[in-house]
Amino acid sequence: MYVVLLGLPGAGKGTQAALLKDETGLPHVTTGELFRENIRGGTDLGKQAQPFVESGRLVPDEITIGMLLDRISQPDCAGGCMLDGFPRSLEQARALDEALAGKGKRIDRTIYISVATDELVCRLSGRWSCPNCGAVYNETSRPPRTPGICDNCGSRLEQRKDDRPEAVRTRLEVNLKNLEPLLDYYRTQGKLCEASGEGPVEEVARAVRACLEGER
Ligand code: AMP
Repeated sequence: MYVVLLGLPGAGKGTQAALLKDETGLPHVTTGELFRENIRGGTDLGKQAQPFVESGRLVPDEITIGMLLDRISQPDCAGGCMLDGFPRSLEQARALDEALAGKGKRIDRTIYISVATDELVCRLSGRWSCPNCGAVYNETSRPPRTPGICDNCGSRLEQRKDDRPEAVRTRLEVNLKNLEPLLDYYRTQGKLCEASGEGPVEEVARAVRACLEGER
């Protein structure tokens, strides 16, 4: 099963994909994290992507599409995966459909996790993550037990460069512009299901699960 999670930055796509990974067995493929790994590792791809990622702009399709198609052709994705952060444009959606069709596969479901923009600004600017284990916290809604320290592994938490106010504004603008055409694209294909991302994490998970199981 190939599932696409759509939603603006901060909507909770990563949190939901991580929760559902154990239940569904689907690997979580996230382009944002692939870029951050490459940036941390100092690879050529990371060097090309870094200025875009850190300022909140989209990395050009020539880099992004190749990286994603390469990732989903790895053996662990042979039976499907949960895509988070891709596609973010119609060009990317078409390239993905074409690549899957070439292997006799297709996107089965697209789940749009919707959250109001004001709430997203608040979530993103209060978000802190662990550079070691990837755990994500929020200053107000999910603070760590000791301020600035990861509950899981004790590492010092960091704020992503692109969660700083200037980059947050750019990311939301860029993603808002691209979201509607993408929603239309999947709606027309009869694959779109919407889940409200505004309640507590478990409640959102129930709505996402219902979408996955085709109950909505
Ligand atoms: P995210 O963690 O999903 O918010 O992504 C962080 C950053 O990675 C984005 O602001 C973009 O710079 C880049 N990025 C992630 N996914 C894509 C994509 N599908 N297309 C272009 N850039 C992307």
